[in-house]
Amino acid sequence: MNPITAFIASSGLCASRAFTPALLAALFLRFGAEYDVFQGTAKDLIGSSTVATWFTSDLCIGVLAVLAALEFAANRNQEAREALAYVDKWAKPVMAGAMTLGLLSAQDAAFAQEVLPEQAGIGDSIIAATAAAFNYSIVSVRNGVQQLLFDVDPDNSTGLHTVLSWSEDGVVVFGMIALLFFPMLVCGLIVVGIGLLWALRAWAQRRENAARVPCGSCAAPMFRSAVRCGSCRAPNPAPMAVNWLGVASTNPAPVEGHPEELLSKRRCPCCAARLEGHDVARPCSACNTPPFESMAAVARFDHAMQARLPRTLAFGLLMGLVPVLGMIAGVLYFRTRVVAPYRQYVSGFRRFLLRLLLRILIVALVLFQLIPLLGSLAIPLLALVNHRVFRRAFLAQAEQRLSAAAAAPSSTPNIATA
Ligand SMILES: [Zn+2]
Ligand SMILES: [Zn+2]
Repeated sequence: MNPITAFIASSGLCASRAFTPALLAALFLRFGAEYDVFQGTAKDLIGSSTVATWFTSDLCIGVLAVLAALEFAANRNQEAREALAYVDKWAKPVMAGAMTLGLLSAQDAAFAQEVLPEQAGIGDSIIAATAAAFNYSIVSVRNGVQQLLFDVDPDNSTGLHTVLSWSEDGVVVFGMIALLFFPMLVCGLIVVGIGLLWALRAWAQRRENAARVPCGSCAAPMFRSAVRCGSCRAPNPAPMAVNWLGVASTNPAPVEGHPEELLSKRRCPCCAARLEGHDVARPCSACNTPPFESMAAVARFDHAMQARLPRTLAFGLLMGLVPVLGMIAGVLYFRTRVVAPYRQYVSGFRRFLLRLLLRILIVALVLFQLIPLLGSLAIPLLALVNHRVFRRAFLAQAEQRLSAAAAAPSSTPNIATA
């Protein structure tokens, strides 16, 4: 294969998925020659007897198939996706390098060996290493953009991450197939895609910087929406309210209930940094404040979220009168307003089980919504059930985790309330 095509395809496509592109490449190289469609269009790539034997071996294809299947499964789940980002940083460059080597040795190795017997292997290795390094930088840009989207929708309550994840799978599979037929076009599109990612990340960084101001007493960067500085805990003289994205707006924060607003967006009630994981007792990684200090804090949060319910139900009732589009708007609204704030602090198997049960209920109520007039009750009903189920799960888990934390006071006591 043409070294430039191999370089761009490997470093670009492996930035989305580590194992799927390599698996597809190995399968094409191994079996492509048996099918007429591929034979005609990609003669130079496949069906040659000089195909890298390690890359197309039974063992390599078997291992890649297992890893690609695991990767596909992990991408179907929000928590697994978040965890995957840590592993991917290293797995993707390694696979990009291996795939470049595999693609290059498919054809060029034979040619290069005739001309430059000693240098053939070294040249390929240099290209592969460069592809791995380039892939590493693309992956960090991609993860930066993904981080931004986690901030927008930390609990995947809009389904945004599900849609993006399927799109990435689609791009990788169709990208690999199209590469055989239109290598130049696909390479061009990959380069444009990388450029767009870069621009998006630059925009995200500007936004992130704009969201912070230097602390008045220690000069450490502090979120505009923070209650206190995460480093020195000096109070923020002018905390800003958070908008629907969880980002500081230009309006001053309300005197009452600002920490609860931050918590509802999965942000630290003290320094406004993003909270990691779904554990209700896991302290903020930036300032070590636990999201809920006591059951009283849990009750305050619960009270603030309950207060959102009447307006949310009324909106759902209204939206229920509009077929399809109204249903979508109503469901998205109640999920972000009264379900996600609780659900994002529910962890483990319970979270998985509840999501599954409620999914079945949604299907039943979608059918109910088709009944004129009476159907408009479907959204408020759905909102109420979802809210109740996750509220109860949250309260039970908070009680359990906070009493366990109180029984073992080994962690540093916080001074946020000082
Ligand atoms: Zn400070
Ligand atoms: Zn914090």
